[in-house]
Amino acid sequence: MAHLLTSAYTSCVRTLEPLASYFSLRPALAAGTTTCVAVVEQCLATIAAQEKLNVFVNVYADEALARAAQLDEQFKAGTAGPLAGLVVGIKDLLVYKDHPVQGGSKILNGFVSQFTCTAVQRLIDAGAIIIGHQNCDEFGMGSSNQNSCWGPALHPLVPQRVPGGSSGGSAAAVRAGMCHVALGTDTGGSVRQPAAFCGVIGIKPSYARVSRYGLIAYSSSFDTISVFSAHLQDGAAALAEMAGQDDNDNTSAHVPVPAYAEKLAFTGKAKVAYLTNTLHHEGVQKEIVDHTSAALERLKAAGHTVEGVEFPLLDYALPTYYILTTAEASANLARFDGVRYGHRSEKAHDLQHLYTQSRTEGFGPEVKRRIMLGTYILSEGYCDAYFTQAQRVRRMIQEQLGEILAAYDFIVLPTTPTTAFKCGEHTQNPVEMYLADLFTVGASVAGFPAISIPNGVDEQQLPIGLQVVANAFQEEKMLAFAQHLQGLGIQ
Ligand code: GLN
Repeated sequence: MAHLLTSAYTSCVRTLEPLASYFSLRPALAAGTTTCVAVVEQCLATIAAQEKLNVFVNVYADEALARAAQLDEQFKAGTAGPLAGLVVGIKDLLVYKDHPVQGGSKILNGFVSQFTCTAVQRLIDAGAIIIGHQNCDEFGMGSSNQNSCWGPALHPLVPQRVPGGSSGGSAAAVRAGMCHVALGTDTGGSVRQPAAFCGVIGIKPSYARVSRYGLIAYSSSFDTISVFSAHLQDGAAALAEMAGQDDNDNTSAHVPVPAYAEKLAFTGKAKVAYLTNTLHHEGVQKEIVDHTSAALERLKAAGHTVEGVEFPLLDYALPTYYILTTAEASANLARFDGVRYGHRSEKAHDLQHLYTQSRTEGFGPEVKRRIMLGTYILSEGYCDAYFTQAQRVRRMIQEQLGEILAAYDFIVLPTTPTTAFKCGEHTQNPVEMYLADLFTVGASVAGFPAISIPNGVDEQQLPIGLQVVANAFQEEKMLAFAQHLQGLGIQ
């Protein structure tokens, strides 16, 4: 990391601004007073100027410009799609035909995708421009983007801090004005947490709302392709295009997809629950408690019902998450054997040694730790004690949160216990790093949609996130409520 942290670069707090909303740009694109080519050129210039942030692992400059020129022609002809000219970056875990993808791992060195992820394809079909692949923690395992074969991505505002993870590059790119929207994956918080750290919006839809086809699997019963944007309408519009049943993912839900971006008006009064133990939890930064309480006060003042409820299982959510996800990861990552994909050790002297040596050389330490943990959890003598038990607790968490969301419209809580921490912090003790997920894993364990929106900054000017959780498939209501919160000055 030292090579990235040159002294002149780290000394300043930066003032990078996100792009203006796609919807504010669209009339000018349609009228021809600006062009998609100009927008892409602006993004490419910012990416080049901020190369040291290390947020992109591959930039598809020529392709993006050629595509932009094509879209400009479509605007002239009146045939431009609903998101024509939307500049999108994608996490290095989403496959894109004929483009390299590595999931932040050496084990996929040299791998080129043979097909395109459904979510990405649907955005392309709507007119989006894919500008590049973005840095992330290896296979989505991490909370700081420091577990990447590409080296760490840095925080866009304060480069000696982490952008969060695992989709850190994607969050930083949106914050720094390199794309309108970025696609990340959120298994336990990997979109909401970096969104909170970087001061952008992170939308995790319900599990199964978006097809996982073309998402390199970490933990299949949790993995959810999710969206970053600086402006709610942009993220909502992208989600509406991506969501919906897909024959290539038989877990994707047969539930109709509303036009989220057109339904952002929130009317009426909401019943809002906050989880009392999230505000009194040890290790939660005081300013985050204060900003969350202030947001709840604003909601009360606006006439909404706001009540504290108990969520006794909060402290079980993290262990449940880490038991189940490591178990699933150990199975999913078995496919990387040095034979079928990417890196193959040159030192191997027989087949068994080829497997072990390729995996030893290809995987980073966090991924190895999780494969070993997961293998242990699934081993004959311990499966019932850990895996089966964690499945039961998962169900209880789902039921407890479901009961709260039957009585209330939303749960509001902080997104993270702290703001962006320093590079190098928490790297010695993995459990300390896992605590960054304390408030995000609940919605993941339950499969519920959740959004993180900016909620001011702490004394060091680091962004704070506020999270809203809704019941399964209530994205429409959740997004409208998030817009309402922004209208109340929570941003
Ligand atoms: N930080 C969590 C983990 O390391 C979440 C990761 C994610 O959502 N992909 O597992």
